[in-house]
Amino acid sequence: MSESISSNHSTDVLIVGAGIIGLAHAAEAVSRGLSVRIIDRDSRAVGASIRNFGHCCVTAQSGELLDLATAAREGWLRHSKLAGFFSVESGGLAVARNLQEVAVLEELAARRGADQVKLVNADAVRQQLSGKGDGAIMAGALLRDDIRVDPREAVAKLAAWLAKQPRVWFQWRTSYLGTDDDGAQLSTIRTSRGSFRASRVIVCVGHDLDYVYPELSEAFEVNRCALQMALVRPPASLRIGPAILTGTSMLRYPAFAETAAADELKKELAARNPELLAIDANLMLTQRPDGTLIIGDSHYTETTVDPFLSEQTQDTLLGAAAHLLGTGNFQVIQRWQGVYASSPQQNFLIKDIQSNVTAVSVTSGIGMTISFGLARKTFDQLENALVLSRTH
Ligand SMILES: Cc1cc2nc3c(=O)[nH]c(=O)nc-3n(C[C@H](O)[C@H](O)[C@H](O)COP(=O)(O)OP(=O)(O)OC[C@H]3O[C@@H](n4cnc5c(N)ncnc54)[C@H](O)[C@@H]3O)c2cc1C
Repeated sequence: MSESISSNHSTDVLIVGAGIIGLAHAAEAVSRGLSVRIIDRDSRAVGASIRNFGHCCVTAQSGELLDLATAAREGWLRHSKLAGFFSVESGGLAVARNLQEVAVLEELAARRGADQVKLVNADAVRQQLSGKGDGAIMAGALLRDDIRVDPREAVAKLAAWLAKQPRVWFQWRTSYLGTDDDGAQLSTIRTSRGSFRASRVIVCVGHDLDYVYPELSEAFEVNRCALQMALVRPPASLRIGPAILTGTSMLRYPAFAETAAADELKKELAARNPELLAIDANLMLTQRPDGTLIIGDSHYTETTVDPFLSEQTQDTLLGAAAHLLGTGNFQVIQRWQGVYASSPQQNFLIKDIQSNVTAVSVTSGIGMTISFGLARKTFDQLENALVLSRTH
């Protein structure tokens, strides 16, 4: 249900930010029977949530992140049906091109079991890459629980579906300015288009946390991590089901990085592929339903990031991807920069900042992977407060 700005009735929950974290929280509120208003400063989501690979990288998480990712997986599949967006249980494929990468995958497979992490030989990897592939491919691991969505479609359709639900209201082009929260049951939320009233405010502004709550952002050393990405048109015959991860992904995601073999892998990649480590690459790719490939990514972290894309970084990533797939150069259709929140202290934060205001931000580049699971966790923590203060 969309509604005019003049609406001034109160809701159980007001969510700031209509990226995947805000939308997952809105969906969780709906499933708990709560009324919800979502505000976003833009006219549609254009942040990190539409700039990523659409890869729910479940298997490569560990500990609590794995639990959150597993819960999020179920949320993605359910909402894909409800909202009518593409999702595929294609799994992930980690490709090994040296002995150290093989050792990482063997260790993870031994830990998780062949159901979850299935080791495959070089021919099977090549088959998944449409029969081509780098001559150095030695083996791979199929990561059963990973899923893929098309981020641009999924986020737009999830918002559209939520807008049709009873007792859900969107206010686009509306900036959050703060909450007057004097301990009363209903808080007053100040925005660029007047004020709203709600029992609970959940602020999901991603990497822009410092614009609204600078002290919180500084306490958790939240910075911006900027990534370079490209969309390319591969040869028509190329069909790749799983999300593709490589050695650099094994240094980044915890389930790989926690293996004993990961240290040796880091040394090997430093010697063999210094150009990838120099741009802090996580060489990955996913194929969208129209056949185009999303290829990335590089990382650099700063409080304020440069808007300029480096052609050298793009060449390094695109060259490495073409080499991996055994194709010639790609036709590049789009290039962009994505930015996500990054903290050296923790992977995400759920922090009460006033008595009725909670800030939620994923600070480790896995917001798609844990989104719906994180929303459930936030509401589990808030449940008692919300039961006491439901407005309707
Ligand atoms: C290039 C790239 C690749 C990635 N790949 C993956 C991947 O494959 N898998 C994965 O799990 N994760 C991936 N991530 C991370 C993931 O995309 C993010 O963690 C996630 O999208 C963060 O979601 P969000 O809703 O917090 O942020 P955003 O999507 O940035 O949304 C924040 C929203 O808040 C709004 N907002 C901000 N300030 C205000 C305000 N004052 N008032 C009102 N509205 C406001 C913004 O307009 C925006 O719509 C990737 C990220 C990038 C950049």
